[in-house]
Amino acid sequence: MDTEIQSLNDATLHYLDAIYRLSQDGQPATTNTIAGKLGVTPSGASIMLKRLADRKLVQLTPYKGATLTPQGVRIALRTIRRHRLLEVFLIQVMGFQWHEVDKHAHALETVIDQEFEDRIAEITGNPTRCPHGHVIPTRDGVLPRVPDVKLVSCPVGASGVIRCIDTDNAEWLEYFGQLGLMPDARVTLKSIAPYGGAVTISTPHDSITLGFELAEVILIEPDKPADAWVSPAGRPHARHARTRRAGFRHKGS
Ligand SMILES: [Zn+2]
Ligand SMILES: [Zn+2]
Repeated sequence: MDTEIQSLNDATLHYLDAIYRLSQDGQPATTNTIAGKLGVTPSGASIMLKRLADRKLVQLTPYKGATLTPQGVRIALRTIRRHRLLEVFLIQVMGFQWHEVDKHAHALETVIDQEFEDRIAEITGNPTRCPHGHVIPTRDGVLPRVPDVKLVSCPVGASGVIRCIDTDNAEWLEYFGQLGLMPDARVTLKSIAPYGGAVTISTPHDSITLGFELAEVILIEPDKPADAWVSPAGRPHARHARTRRAGFRHKGS
């Protein structure tokens, strides 16, 4: 397995990682979104995707995009595990702040080997999530399922515990950190203005208003399952939240 990974270059591993995350909702990742995610041109991405398809790591569907083959998934999960363990290490051992670690982990995730990965896991106490709350795949390549749901997809009045801030945008993370909106914080959804308007949430100390785009990356473990909540108006929660959710993609790592 490790020799297999080491025979792949950094770019390949970053592509597999990006495609894995962009196709997590079951839809192929389009060439444009992959290019955007990796900061390359669509034509460059398209050449690379063909190469990955030749190596049987990626399956291409014309006009739809790319998904990973089982072998591609295995390699992507290994890189993702290393990325997330590195983030924990960078905070716990090196004293970085949570908005600073993604870029360093991204640079290191493709260069460490199995021994290094195992040592990091041991030193950090075998964490199950990264500092942002993303689940860390197990050493044998399983991504455990978690009960996380988008806060904005919950009915108004719903409460729960933040499990993940699903973005790798450093500025957003810094802002969330300042507001105390981080994994383990308790929140209640107070209101969602229609048409992608402001979202108001409360914490034990504060009432906080966020733009919809920002609020959308907060994932919580709700106190009750979604269908057990009845919204104040006695009907399911705001329709626009559901429409937006259809286009949901995991952004962070
Ligand atoms: Zn990250
Ligand atoms: Zn992370």
